[in-house]
Order: sequence, then structure tokens, then C-alpha cells
Amino acid sequence: MMTLLQVESITKRFGGVVANSEVSFSVDEGQIVGLIGPNGAGKSTMFNMISSIFPPTEGSILFCGKKIDLLPSYKVAPLGISRTFQNLQVFKNMTVIENVMVGQHMRTKQNLSGVTSMLLGITRKERKVYEEAMDILRFFNLESLYDQKASSLSLGKLRLLEFARAYATEPKLLLLDEIAAGLNHSETSEMSELIKRVRESGVTILVVEHDMDLVMSICDKLVVLDQGMKIAEGTPKEIQANEAVIAAYLGA
Ligand code: ADP
Ligand code: MG
Repeated sequence: MMTLLQVESITKRFGGVVANSEVSFSVDEGQIVGLIGPNGAGKSTMFNMISSIFPPTEGSILFCGKKIDLLPSYKVAPLGISRTFQNLQVFKNMTVIENVMVGQHMRTKQNLSGVTSMLLGITRKERKVYEEAMDILRFFNLESLYDQKASSLSLGKLRLLEFARAYATEPKLLLLDEIAAGLNHSETSEMSELIKRVRESGVTILVVEHDMDLVMSICDKLVVLDQGMKIAEGTPKEIQANEAVIAAYLGA
């Protein structure tokens, strides 16, 4: 099994706040790994460093064996790391399909004004991008909404669109930050099925999620953070029986 992501003794300080303290873990190719823990544990901060939004204070992050923690984020995305945001980052004034095309653009390097001409299907290449975008929408059960403004979508559909946009970049590693937050029971089951289908399509996934039924049913491995420190790592079964995790998080 190849190690895709290796987080080595990462510490992040914001002034006096220690958001992550000497955290180490790895993600193997093909795995779904869950990063869990109470609010303020440092989960989003870890995602921000893996996607190079800001660098760690200490430690290093390796992706496919290469050090990426000092790269600017525009150089990390083309290596094959994509993410969703806890506070959604869809373009509200664009349609559903245009949002997916923005994701495709990250890899096809088509210029953004091209999105409009793509919709007119001017060249065969542009037509292909449009058809691929429709395929992605079908994969996420969003095809009937393709021409709707993102601003008109429900929270559940917005979360699917955020996921679809990140998937459209064809990442090797996808980081999902609270992708099921605020979803009802049936939307959460749909999300769970989609995450598994995305993994089957060859994408490795790291998830931050509070819905423990979801996390326990889809993850191969869990890493537990509390107050910036890693307090446990193991299979869902091991984590559910771990005394330190029950005291810090699961017992609450
Ligand atoms: P989680 O995602 O696990 O809820 P976060 O990573 O968002 O936790 O936050 C961990 C800690 O780091 C919190 O105390 C938070 O206030 C702090 N923090 C996160 N981002 C910043 C930032 N950009 N500037 C200052 N403090 C931050
Ligand atoms: Mg967070």
C-alpha cells in the first residue's frame, strides 16, 4: 500500500493559541480516513495546512513523497489535492454546471471567460468539457439542476455541488470538511454513498465530520484530535472502545 499523504509532527501556533501540536499521521492510497474531535481541536487548521492555505509553524507534510508544506496553494492543487470548505465556497451567482466547470478549469487550464463560450458548444473540445460536467452532475444526482443559479439551491444540494466542484478537479486526494453538516437523515445517507462511490472511482479521501454514524460506517481509519493533540488513531472499532476518546469526545 502506497502512502499518499504523510503528516509529520505538525505544530501550528496562532499567536498564543496552539491549534495543532506535534500531530503525525498518514493516509494510504485508496483509503477513507476520518479526522475527528471536538470543536476547536484543530481539524480545519490541519486541512488548511494540507491544502497550503498557510504553512505549519513546525513539522512537514509530504504528498506522494514530496514535501509540500512550503508550496503556495496554487501549486498544491495541480499536484492532485482538492478540498471542500466548512463554510461553502460555491459561486452563488453562477449556475450549477458553471460551478463544476470552474473545477474542471483547474485542470484543463481553459481560461474562465471560456466557460460562457463552452455553454454555446463552439468547439468540439468545449463540447467535451460540457459533457464531462454533465457526467459529473449525474454522478452527484444534480443533473436536473444544471441551469439553476447556485443561490437558489437548498443546503443539501449546495453541499453536493461543493463536493462535485472539488471532484471535478480530478484530485488524487480529496479533503471533505464537514460535508454532511446540517443535512437530514436521508441527505446524510446519500452523502455517505457518494463518498464511497468517489473512493471507488480512485480518489483517496480525508474527512472531517461530526456525524459519528457516517464516520464509523465509511472510514478505514480514524485519527482523533483534542485540543490540538492527537489522542488516538485506529479502526472505527478500536476508536469506539478507546477510553481517552470516549472521555474527550464520544462520551459527550
Ligand atoms: P476545528 O476545525 O477542529 O473545530 P480549528 O482548526 O478551526 O478547529 O481551530 C483550532 C484552534 O485554532 C481554535 O482555537 C481556533 O480559534 C484557532 N484558529 C483556527 N484558525 C485560526 C486563525 N486563522 N487565526 C487564529 N486562530 C485560529
Ligand atoms: Mg472545523
